[in-house]
Amino acid sequence: MKKLALHWKIIIGLVAGVLAGLAALQFDGGARFITHWVKPFGIIFINLLKLIAIPLIIASLIKGVSDLKDLAKFSRMGFRTFLIYVCTTVVAVTIGLTVVNVVRPGSLMDAAAKEQLLEAYSLDAESKMTAAAETKGKGPLQPLVDIVPQNFFSAASDNGNMLQVIFFAILFGIGLILLTPDKSKPVKQFFDGANEVILKMIDLVMLFAPYGVMALLAALVAESPSPDVFVALGAYALTVLLGLLLLGFIVYPTLLKVFTGMGPVRFFKGISPAQLVAFSTSSSAATLPVTMERVNEHLGVDEEVASFVCPVGATINMDGTSLYQAIAAVFIAQVMGFDLTLGDQLTIILTATLASIGSAAVPGAGLLMLVIVLESIGVPAAGIALIFAIDRPLDMCRTVVNVTGDATVATLVARSIGKLHAPHERKWDEHYKDRERETKKVF
Ligand code: ASP
Repeated sequence: MKKLALHWKIIIGLVAGVLAGLAALQFDGGARFITHWVKPFGIIFINLLKLIAIPLIIASLIKGVSDLKDLAKFSRMGFRTFLIYVCTTVVAVTIGLTVVNVVRPGSLMDAAAKEQLLEAYSLDAESKMTAAAETKGKGPLQPLVDIVPQNFFSAASDNGNMLQVIFFAILFGIGLILLTPDKSKPVKQFFDGANEVILKMIDLVMLFAPYGVMALLAALVAESPSPDVFVALGAYALTVLLGLLLLGFIVYPTLLKVFTGMGPVRFFKGISPAQLVAFSTSSSAATLPVTMERVNEHLGVDEEVASFVCPVGATINMDGTSLYQAIAAVFIAQVMGFDLTLGDQLTIILTATLASIGSAAVPGAGLLMLVIVLESIGVPAAGIALIFAIDRPLDMCRTVVNVTGDATVATLVARSIGKLHAPHERKWDEHYKDRERETKKVF
């Protein structure tokens, strides 16, 4: 396995995992064996990635912000990042709405399957609705209040508080810029060094990636519901996949080619390990360390940009999720017999954009926020029971697009402020190759 590129190793792990899961289903107790003896290795892999996320954000963002040297540069980058994130999300929702209105998967579902699904998943739907009601009851400015932590340690002790940690690191970095060099130098050197250590840790964890991915996929297949539900929801699933493919494999590469000149082969070769980890973990937050490493070291996005745009993107930019929410909302409305007006569709653009910003970067978060989108157009939220059964595989795919979107925007922002390095620029290329070589030598 030594000479193969990382993405091939992960793909082999992925296929081996699916085969192992299918094989286990042929034996009595096979699924239990996978749950008890294989799945834990997948969980260990996810835990390792999550373990790195917060220290990585702190070290790289403090280093990134303080490297900027002046605050005007930082606000320029922040403004562009936010603007491009919102634009790509609106494009994503629009693609979702177009696809679902053309295909009309809701009209293809028969009444018996509808009744069966509503009954079988009504309890699961109810628990999501309760959780969504809690989120909604908090008032319009609550998301803003939630960004500012009152205690650094409690913010850093929960991966769900990523925006709070980002806030602290930016403030710390700004403080560092404002110090005199004699005071700031040792602090900066410390974070520069810490950042290198963490990047090394990501290299180490990624050596385990093919095995972690194999374990996750084996467990997913062994524990998945019966294939019948996939048949009933096939048209809906294919519509979501079509939308995701359009966005992830046509719109993003076109944007990159037009605005940065980067070709699709280079982009996908660089980012594919992060996409595969996103697919296996269903979590942009868990994938963040890999996304940042790939964007910085393989796409040539300067660390100053990657360290800011990627963590912010993992939390607020979820193009795949917003596209899926638009399709799911209209699909549920179609099945339940609601006619959506143009005004309803515009409401979906607004609420799905906001809901994807508010969705946590963890498995299943998009489905929870879908409740809010449905309520905004007056469709009963209990309708999410219809799509519950097939949500996990679609979650895996939309997480891939979420991560691809973050990488695309990081590249666009870097290019717009002159911080995108060409492959032949030795500085970044040789540096990461040396580091990867050193890590491999040890094992
Ligand atoms: N799992 C997605 C992510 O982490 C969020 C979602 O759509 O459920 O990006």
